[in-house]
Amino acid sequence: MLQSQLFTKTKKEFPKDEEGKNAKLLIRAGFIEKLMPGVYSFLPLGLKVLQNIENIIREEMNNVGGQEILMPVLQPKENWQQTGRWQTFNALYKLKSREGKELALGPTHEEVVVPLAKKFINSYKDLPIYLYQIQTKFRDEPRPRSGLLRGKEFLMKDFYSFHESTKDLENFYEKMKKVYLETFKRLGLETKIVEASGGSFSKYSHEFQVLSSNGEDEIIYCDCGFAQNKEICGLRKNDKCPKCKRRTIKIARAIEVGNIFKLGTKYSEPFNLKFKTKKGDEKLVEMGCYGIGLSRTMAAIIETSSDEKGIIWPESVAPFKVHLLELGDQKKQAEEIYRTLQKAKIDVLFDDRQEVSAGEKFADSDLLGIPYRIVVSEKTIKAKKFELKRRSEKKVKLVTQKELLKTIRI
Ligand SMILES: [Zn+2]
Repeated sequence: MLQSQLFTKTKKEFPKDEEGKNAKLLIRAGFIEKLMPGVYSFLPLGLKVLQNIENIIREEMNNVGGQEILMPVLQPKENWQQTGRWQTFNALYKLKSREGKELALGPTHEEVVVPLAKKFINSYKDLPIYLYQIQTKFRDEPRPRSGLLRGKEFLMKDFYSFHESTKDLENFYEKMKKVYLETFKRLGLETKIVEASGGSFSKYSHEFQVLSSNGEDEIIYCDCGFAQNKEICGLRKNDKCPKCKRRTIKIARAIEVGNIFKLGTKYSEPFNLKFKTKKGDEKLVEMGCYGIGLSRTMAAIIETSSDEKGIIWPESVAPFKVHLLELGDQKKQAEEIYRTLQKAKIDVLFDDRQEVSAGEKFADSDLLGIPYRIVVSEKTIKAKKFELKRRSEKKVKLVTQKELLKTIRI
């Protein structure tokens, strides 16, 4: 893509009305734009990142047997009354249709997926089944903050599992822990599995937390693997770890990017979701649910992977793999390597802008955070080479075209 044609431009200054590092950098670099507090537009570069995150998550969910569906955002009040959450779910957006029918905008989808599953699950032969969707959710947050970390509207992957027994649910739940760790690793995030309050059907639920000073949660953890959300943890500073009983616990702020719950029969009961067992009697279906916040994941990546100059995208989610900079008037040579890279199926943003200084191009490149930067200038042409630099490293190398392609392809 030619940068001269790009819809967005970088801004000279950070936005004044944002506190989180993610929002400041994303807005200044032109990835997102704020419509109102907690509500953002995703611009071409931002949407590319979001779609890369989405594709990795989709691949992992399909691998574990998930079947993707898309459920409605608009939901009838009756379904929410059935579970009692019309009254108790504080952040629920409620609206009225022209006929006076009361509706909710989906903040989560148990109230839709359970009656849906009921239409297809009859016997033990239909179980287990795994359904998921990737969709915009709505929550009437009283205090939206920190850019994409807590929004009123956000993209989420919600996955629901249906089982014939608690044992089957538990086995799958443990499997999902591993799938989640692997998924976040692919997204460039180091996550901790943190115990959190479990509700009526199990002692704990589990959160996937990324250590970050801008996180909303506080977690207590130990290098032995113990980790608990401070909300449920009775421990205090300098206490000994209750698991290994040797080390002193640590306390840190963290961003929750995913969570998983054993729901048991909490939602199958109000909707009477039952199946016929092998013996012929009827039993309630056991359920689990598994969420990942996609826009929040994007924010967490920036909170943990950036420097004073800008964003440092992990290759797996970067909007482009290569940022090609043409300095001075070197159009011919720059276009040549641009075409070569395109032929090699390497995703390139080509800064072909004229009347923009070298200094500005370098600053923009650091701000945008694309993994590889290639410079074509008078100097590199004289040497019959290209200047190559990784955004995550300081050193600059002069390389031949062959070396360039080899490095980037790996
Ligand atoms: Zn320990």
